[in-house]
Amino acid sequence: MSALTPPDLDPQDALEQFFGFREFRHAQEDVVRALIEGRDALVVMPTGGGKSLCYQLPALVREGVAIVVSPLIALMKDQVDALQQRGIAATMINSTIGYAEQRERIRGMARGEYKLVYIAPERFRSESFTKALSEATISFVAVDEAHCLSQWGHDFRPDYLRVGQSLAKLGNPQVAAFTATATPEVRADILTHLELREPAQFVTGFSRPNLHLAVRQVSSDSEKYERLATLIREHETGIVYCASRKRVDEVSETLLRDGISVVAYHGGMDDQARESAQNEFLSRRKNVAVATNAFGMGIDRADIRFVVHFEVPGSVEAYYQEAGRAGRDGGPAVCELLFNFADTRIQDFFIDGNNPGKALIEETYETLRRLADKDGEVAVPVSELAEKMESGKNSMAVSTCLSILNRQGFIVRHDIAGRRVRGTRVVSPTTCSSSLKLDTAALEEKERRDRAKLKGMIDLAYSRTCRQQWVLQYFGEPDSEPCGHCDSCCDRNMEAVRLPNAEETIVLKKALSGVARMSWRRDGEWVGRFGRNKIIQMLLGSRAKEIVDSGLDQLSTYGLLKTEGSAYVGELFREMENAGLVAVEMGDYPLLTLTERGDLVMRGRQAIRLQWPQRIIRPTSKGGRGALDGPVAWPLARADEPLFEAMKEKRQAMANAAGVPVYTIFPNLTLRALATIKPQDADSAVEVPGIGPYKAKRYLGPFLAIIQSHR
Ligand code: ADP
Ligand code: ZN
Repeated sequence: MSALTPPDLDPQDALEQFFGFREFRHAQEDVVRALIEGRDALVVMPTGGGKSLCYQLPALVREGVAIVVSPLIALMKDQVDALQQRGIAATMINSTIGYAEQRERIRGMARGEYKLVYIAPERFRSESFTKALSEATISFVAVDEAHCLSQWGHDFRPDYLRVGQSLAKLGNPQVAAFTATATPEVRADILTHLELREPAQFVTGFSRPNLHLAVRQVSSDSEKYERLATLIREHETGIVYCASRKRVDEVSETLLRDGISVVAYHGGMDDQARESAQNEFLSRRKNVAVATNAFGMGIDRADIRFVVHFEVPGSVEAYYQEAGRAGRDGGPAVCELLFNFADTRIQDFFIDGNNPGKALIEETYETLRRLADKDGEVAVPVSELAEKMESGKNSMAVSTCLSILNRQGFIVRHDIAGRRVRGTRVVSPTTCSSSLKLDTAALEEKERRDRAKLKGMIDLAYSRTCRQQWVLQYFGEPDSEPCGHCDSCCDRNMEAVRLPNAEETIVLKKALSGVARMSWRRDGEWVGRFGRNKIIQMLLGSRAKEIVDSGLDQLSTYGLLKTEGSAYVGELFREMENAGLVAVEMGDYPLLTLTERGDLVMRGRQAIRLQWPQRIIRPTSKGGRGALDGPVAWPLARADEPLFEAMKEKRQAMANAAGVPVYTIFPNLTLRALATIKPQDADSAVEVPGIGPYKAKRYLGPFLAIIQSHR
């Protein structure tokens, strides 16, 4: 066994000496520091972000042994091997280790022979095990994959709840929880179940600057296929995610008919077919995979250049995880969702299937009782069971009923030697369904959350905000900046995104106060009362009947932005929404109100970068041909669409040649402006938003040429 590391080892030295890395990544250093200082922590970092180092390094520096709770036994071995190779005293305790050896390792812990010990969560079932552990000097407990202790996560493991309960018996050591997926709900569960004490919280590393996220609104399948063909032609290597097995078959057959070589992959295929599909793709013999979300676990192909969602996924978590399989090599990659609202029905159907409701659960239970032999045993496949039920035609829902009954302890699902079908034992065959104590509140709550997740995904699809920023905010990284190259950013003028000047700050605060004035304040939160247009009308000092009749002209904020003009204020409101300062609450009627961030900005406690609306385009001194000659609110002016398209094509070609994202040449807004004003020379073109002297010199020429030849 290697020598123990001295407790006063410097983190930076340890990073180089034991891990061979020169620099910390993301927030690694902050996490490491918090752990060394003895603080509880919750760390949310995406897969591959470098979570393990966050606890491995402090484990070396701290006195005692760090316990790492991890559910993945296969990965555990890899980690321990890697640590041992680096000369770090590490071991593991799980069901693959013989009992005598387990005891020996625990004794070794008590003797202080290890810095890190990986332990599978089910070991904490045993009281005596926990007691034996408490003999050791524990530096801290790291709980990996901590989302497993939340019922709302995708991977709930009851054993994880025991870990929380065991902590007291271990003398309440310092605890750090790690996970890659934590929505606010899951995070809250982790905090409560592990009873983290004033934890340092980190959400970091979710930003993927090389991904070009985009949502394309489509209204038909043929539109989807057309777009898909283009994406495959342009980017060659990628994954097409479909919502159902049937769709995978349909899409892959269509592509094959069109002469595009693809592999299909879904959970309904037999093991061999799936494995061969995966191998074809991983070995680069085939470069396009059409798949359900079953495809992905362990897909270790770094050069994926595109991920297309052929249908909307059921949650932002699923969307981003799947999109995130693109560009793992760090090169640019395109992630496009082909969004047709009609597709949300498939997800609704899944939510129904995953949330069968009390009546169906009880019917399933009664059917099982009816079919059970004298020992309470039933051995029929789910589909057959569904057929025997009055309302159980949907075998997905019946299958969910079985899992719920199993989880709540009314039946036990078990394997039957030599058979594919799983057996079911009714625990207490004399108990009838009406006396089952189902936890219906939890079931309803789960359904509510499933629907909220889908709604989040739909909100993302309709949002005009930077996609990356939207996703990061969703995951709890609130301070990100617009990415500059998603579809929303390309539609915007990134160079106009900046901090406001003094005058603009006042305008912004007035606008936000107007929103506040027309909202309720309830339990410390802003709640909407009026729609966007009413608020704007009030700020503009409108004399419209509905404004005057409802007394809005009596508000202190009435007419505050009168001098700004409706186009400017309208644009400003859209940008405030993009920047997350105000938000629309959907209901019978969309109501606009302040967000927490908007509240801070209104009070001058936080500065915010916005895309400031362009007030006017002034005619140039030379009166460039076609320049607009009055003050016109941008972007209401009309562009020459064919010219705009021609310039977009040119821009793409230039971007490809230079290997840069298109927006760095000119954003869409600038091209639109060019296609509106049609300036004939550089002097008049520099009046267009987004064209400074540098860009004019570098990029403008080819566009002026197009404008000239377009006449
Ligand atoms: P996670 O557990 O978050 O999925 P890992 O801890 O397995 O991620 O780390 C992913 C990869 O990143 C590993 O190959 C690891 O060696 C590497 N890595 C982690 N931290 C650093 C760093 N500071 N510098 C360079 N590589 C790192
Ligand atoms: Zn963006």
